[in-house]
Amino acid sequence: MEINDLFKEKTVFSLEVFPPSKTNSINSIIKTLEGLKDLKPDFISVTLGSGGVRKDEKTIAVADIIQNHLNIPAIAHVPGLYKSRNEVDSIIQNLNRINVKSILALRGDRMDSLEPKGDFFHANELIRYVHKRYPDFDISSACYPECHQESTGFVEDINNLKLKINAGSNHLISQLFFDNQHFYDFQEKLKLSGINVPLEAGIMPCINKKQIEKIAEVSGVPVPEKFQNMLKKYENNKEALKEAGIAYAVDQIIDLLAHGVDGIHLYTMNNPDVARRIWDATKYAFKANQVQKVK
Ligand code: FAD
Repeated sequence: MEINDLFKEKTVFSLEVFPPSKTNSINSIIKTLEGLKDLKPDFISVTLGSGGVRKDEKTIAVADIIQNHLNIPAIAHVPGLYKSRNEVDSIIQNLNRINVKSILALRGDRMDSLEPKGDFFHANELIRYVHKRYPDFDISSACYPECHQESTGFVEDINNLKLKINAGSNHLISQLFFDNQHFYDFQEKLKLSGINVPLEAGIMPCINKKQIEKIAEVSGVPVPEKFQNMLKKYENNKEALKEAGIAYAVDQIIDLLAHGVDGIHLYTMNNPDVARRIWDATKYAFKANQVQKVK
């Protein structure tokens, strides 16, 4: 079944993990995945850092565990900016070998220390290439409810998003955001632009100060006053900040479900305990949405 088909039946609940770092062994991610398995997500996606060949191997190894050991559909992220066509071919063929036929095609984060390979400057070029050469692959792509930070505005960003859909992407996962109204406004803009593929809302539970500061810096995502107040109040109390971060994410998800969102993609940060707490607090709302969809 294609990822895109899942949305016909239900409100999708999916997770994102990252592969082990240089210092962590594959056993650490196995433990994480074991902890996430019981949440019965509709799929789990695995990130891939922009540069470096050995990183590809780790992402593929984690996708293999998800797809073939946990029997949960896996999506492998593939950032194209620092990859040649041959390198992309090699990733796709290795994924094909382990029966993972879904990718999230990205440009990838820019890295000052690397020169682009020149084959894929933007995600739409990578999507077109993979879609033509490997037509049985399912291609998702990224979108930005608060606009991509390099864009001059929504007109440009949504026109570029259309290029990704026209090139063969059939499912969108959003950048994390902390203000649901921005997501609803974005949904409207996509509708008006004729983009009607399933759109999942990316939610990141922020449970420590460093993580929040890094996210705001890297992604340029605005942090609303409500969230900043929470931070100010609890930044020096680890447990309280964790509770508040989980509660904020749960509140966002319930509101999104009440608005009939297509799906929630939870950035787990490889923390199964937090993901479980969020699932436990929202699972009945997911089920209620599903019942309404089937009727
Ligand atoms: P693009 O779609 O290429 O867009 C990048 C910018 O260029 C935008 O401003 C867009 O408007 C503009 N643009 C797009 N197409 C064109 C065009 N044809 N001509 C001119 N301008 C254009 N990064 C990683 O390195 N690894 C990951 O695993 C990873 N996972 C992610 C998962 C999700 C769900 C999201 C939202 C992001 C992820 N990222 C990851 C980060 C992502 O790589 C960055 O946000 C990156 O800056 C943009 O990637 P993109 O695929 O959206 O790029």
